[in-house]
Amino acid sequence: MLEIKNLNLHYGMIHALRDINVKVNKGEIVTLIGANGAGKSSTLRALSGLEKASSGEILFEGKDIAKNPANEIVAMGMSHVPEGRRVFANLTVYENLELGAYLRKDKDIKKDIQLILDKFPRLRERLYQRAGTLSGGEQQMLAMGRALMIKPKLLLLDEPSMGLAPIIVKNIFDIILEINKNGTTVLLVEQNAHAALKIAHKAYVLETGSIVYEGDAKSLLEDDTIRSAYLGE
Ligand code: ATP
Repeated sequence: MLEIKNLNLHYGMIHALRDINVKVNKGEIVTLIGANGAGKSSTLRALSGLEKASSGEILFEGKDIAKNPANEIVAMGMSHVPEGRRVFANLTVYENLELGAYLRKDKDIKKDIQLILDKFPRLRERLYQRAGTLSGGEQQMLAMGRALMIKPKLLLLDEPSMGLAPIIVKNIFDIILEINKNGTTVLLVEQNAHAALKIAHKAYVLETGSIVYEGDAKSLLEDDTIRSAYLGE
């Protein structure tokens, strides 16, 4: 579904991504882990067209989208839940979900909002509450629900566990698994490597802009180097 080939990204003099190669097959959860500043968010931002790569290819269903604008990439079926959630704080939960569907022209939007609310019952209880007054976990659910309104083939999640209590993290990760089981492919960026490796099929480890390990998630969980460097064990 997605193939990143020799991707490089610069911010002025900073070489943030160095020849990144990543492959995501249809139906998988793939995770990208690594320390602060490793380039995880930059990778997702390059994929969704929010940053322009300096070189390399991003093949999404076989088409190179590296130079496409963000709105076209969303319309092709890739949707991005950014770091920090970025919900529209002054709009209600319902309005945020409606805005998630802004590119759609069909008549099923109201029905799909109900389907999202079935997945996130907490949001149904807070439907007319302003998004800025939701808890961190609820905002994460809303950001994910909003991204799902486009019915993406590939969902990009940037640190969904950030700042959340362990029980809420478990809840969010269970929902990610369920979204994946229902047919959405997931690329998950996480600093919580343990939680991410537990639900992912495949993993890549980024260090200062380069991929230093890759493999199936279970074997990375059992690898001594990974355990001491990234899992704090
Ligand atoms: P974190 O978990 O802290 O968000 P990350 O792995 O997602 O880290 P990035 O945010 O992708 O890392 O940052 C990679 C590198 O690029 C860092 O050195 C960062 O300082 C730099 N960087 C990111 N965004 C910009 C920007 N807009 N301008 C300049 N440098 C940037």
